[in-house]
Amino acid sequence: MATRSVHDHDSAEGLVSLDDAREKVLSQVRVLPPLELPLTDAYGCVAAGDITAAIDLPEFASSAMDGFAVRASDVEGASPVEPVELKVVGRAMIGQRPEATVGMGESVKIATGAPIPGGADAVIPVENTEEDDGLVRVLERANAGRHVRPQGEDVRAGDVLVPGGKRLGAPELGLLANAGVPHPLVHPRPRVIVLSTGDELIAPTEEPEFGQVRDSNAYMIFGALREAGAIPVLAGIVRDDPEALKDAVLNYEIQADAFVSSGGVSVGERDVVKAAFYRRGDVDFYKVAMQPGMPQGFGLVEGKPFFGLPGNPVSVFVSFEMFVRPAVLKMMGRQHLGRPEVSATLTGDVQGPRDKTVFARVEVARGADGWSATPTGGRGSNLIATVVRANGLAVLPPGVASASAGDRLSVMLFRAAED
Ligand code: AMP
Ligand code: MG
Repeated sequence: MATRSVHDHDSAEGLVSLDDAREKVLSQVRVLPPLELPLTDAYGCVAAGDITAAIDLPEFASSAMDGFAVRASDVEGASPVEPVELKVVGRAMIGQRPEATVGMGESVKIATGAPIPGGADAVIPVENTEEDDGLVRVLERANAGRHVRPQGEDVRAGDVLVPGGKRLGAPELGLLANAGVPHPLVHPRPRVIVLSTGDELIAPTEEPEFGQVRDSNAYMIFGALREAGAIPVLAGIVRDDPEALKDAVLNYEIQADAFVSSGGVSVGERDVVKAAFYRRGDVDFYKVAMQPGMPQGFGLVEGKPFFGLPGNPVSVFVSFEMFVRPAVLKMMGRQHLGRPEVSATLTGDVQGPRDKTVFARVEVARGADGWSATPTGGRGSNLIATVVRANGLAVLPPGVASASAGDRLSVMLFRAAED
């Protein structure tokens, strides 16, 4: 029998490529149906379609100065030596309908921001006038439109305020509020139920007996979900008992858009997640050609995406980046599901299995000659402090087993280099 390459050997074992695994997940995840949400809840969500203006903005022409609203044609020849005298027929105050319209030979005393009265087409600033007992002497001429903020200067009725697919940030909220769209139609944030499995786990507030481990994954997943824009719901620790896990999931099903569990998916282990869901519904368990994070479970439970992540914290972190984060972003209607990538020069060596995509934790920094990437420590998938020191994952693609100082690698940034 011919010698098989490592890759062949692993394929025979049923390794799924990272791309295929991701595609399998994303093809089963749906964008959440849109809802009309109040602006403060819609913040950060994606507009489900073009949001158009029903009105002009500004809605009415207003004065840019304190002064007198006039007809430009009345003050054509005005100058300090030849002032034009107009009758003051009323006032225009902010937030109110002007007291009068401006006819020929007339003016209305106007405040900054007040609506321009009918008939007027220009404003003479108060410093270029002399007011005197029901009359005003205008000391300068003005073109039509002078010191007038026109109606519809910013937005015209029918214009697109926010295009579909765009995320509502601070300026978008301000514009929608101004345009009278207090409940825009957006894709909501998914509510994601977070479960930790393991007989050895205790809450971080508890004192461990020898051998017990404080649940860190739930909190890491909580933070990662928040950063992705989802609403995490911590559902606590579930013992390695398939019935307990099923009960917990079904308990939360009504409020869940998705589930993320950690632990209990590796081979030869007690496989609590597999035992609970292998038969029920469509959760698949498979090994992805990646390190860390090889064993994964994914499927739909009661129609909701269920991510069965491995137990080791670094595997959880990387699996979340690869599968959960893009899925959550897709559910929210986001267009770009990936992280920014930079090409960086390694300052130390990294290695891993040749047949897998290897993610090495690195600290990326911008130097005089581009980005550098410094490995932050050991390769063990239990070493969570190595992720805390990192801001990126350097990628060794399949077929590449190692890279050395001076080599350039692509690095996915999971937080800003400055954070
Ligand atoms: P498992 O796949 O369930 O065997 O878990 C693999 C390793 O990850 C074990 O050493 C677990 O103790 C550890 N682990 C699993 N879940 C958690 C968790 N929520 N927090 C911290 N460590 C965990
Ligand atoms: Mg376990």
